[in-house]
Amino acid sequence: MKVLRSKGPEIFDIELEKDLLAKNRSLARENRKKLDSLKILAIDIMGSIGSGKTSLIKAILKELVMGKKVAVIAGDLTTTIDAERIEVEGARVIQVNTGKECHLDANVIHQAVDKMKLDGVKVLFIENVGNLICPGEFPLGAHKRLVVVSVTEGPYTIVKHPYIFREADVIVLNKIDLAKAMKIDLSQLKKDAQKVNPKVPFIKTNALRGVGISEVIHALGLRP
Ligand code: MG
Ligand code: ZN
Repeated sequence: MKVLRSKGPEIFDIELEKDLLAKNRSLARENRKKLDSLKILAIDIMGSIGSGKTSLIKAILKELVMGKKVAVIAGDLTTTIDAERIEVEGARVIQVNTGKECHLDANVIHQAVDKMKLDGVKVLFIENVGNLICPGEFPLGAHKRLVVVSVTEGPYTIVKHPYIFREADVIVLNKIDLAKAMKIDLSQLKKDAQKVNPKVPFIKTNALRGVGISEVIHALGLRP
């Protein structure tokens, strides 16, 4: 798109957005300081609706067996389905309904962390709203950011969303048991991921069956 020499509203819009993102980043830094002072490792889980974010968190909790030493902030537009699914694994869960907001931001996490009982908590998972676009632009102050993509999303998810995959510290390819039925070439998806983010661990999982979960735990630095 060609931007004309106008000094009108277009430029003002760009400044506004910059300001918003800068404010978010500064709040994210505050969140990080607070989490560090509480000695809590926070992990932002991002991915599309249905990619398996909740299932991945459940599978990790099952394997870690840390009970109430783990807390989860479940972000969702309107429902409490994910929070209820996670709660049965024994973690502390707080549900954050964002209404029409399609991502979590640092301010929401700031408030949630303030409200949560975090005594004894060592690890905090933050399940972001299901979306592969804006969550990448809104760091929350988490120590690690994980993006989960499932083979059922088709062959082009990674190449079409380079920004969020570039932000990731860990990339998880989920539902690998369905690759054949979906005619998905797993090695091609790995190549796509390594093209946008060469050094990041790329882990294949079947979260419902616990396949690949110990590698995810290791990549996140969760094993003591
Ligand atoms: Mg979910
Ligand atoms: Zn959004």
